[in-house]
Amino acid sequence: MAKAKVKANPYQAQEDALRTKQRELLASFERDKAAGVQNDDGIQDLADKAASAYSKELNFSLSDTERNLLMAIEEAFNRMKDGTYGVCTNCGTVIGEKRLHAVPWTSYCIDCQELQEKGMLQ
Ligand SMILES: [Zn+2]
Repeated sequence: MAKAKVKANPYQAQEDALRTKQRELLASFERDKAAGVQNDDGIQDLADKAASAYSKELNFSLSDTERNLLMAIEEAFNRMKDGTYGVCTNCGTVIGEKRLHAVPWTSYCIDCQELQEKGMLQ
């Protein structure tokens, strides 16, 4: 009977980097949320309400970039679990170590990333 072997995560460095980045993003989100709660006070006329709703909205929500990054980080963790991390989700090419080091949440190889940025990727 073959012995079940627990393989060490070959992407431990990337996993650590992803966790650090995720913590950073969530920390700034929590801080903004706290600021939003603090500013929530009493009776306001409509104009004030609109203005504060707007700023609260800003406070509560991460920027699109941050949200996308958080999602990409989640997906990277999922791919690590699936064992598909480090492989381009579009063409199946193994993503270079240098690229994974620079952009650990990437799901594309450099070629597909370029296509995606040009809007040529489905
Ligand atoms: Zn690719």
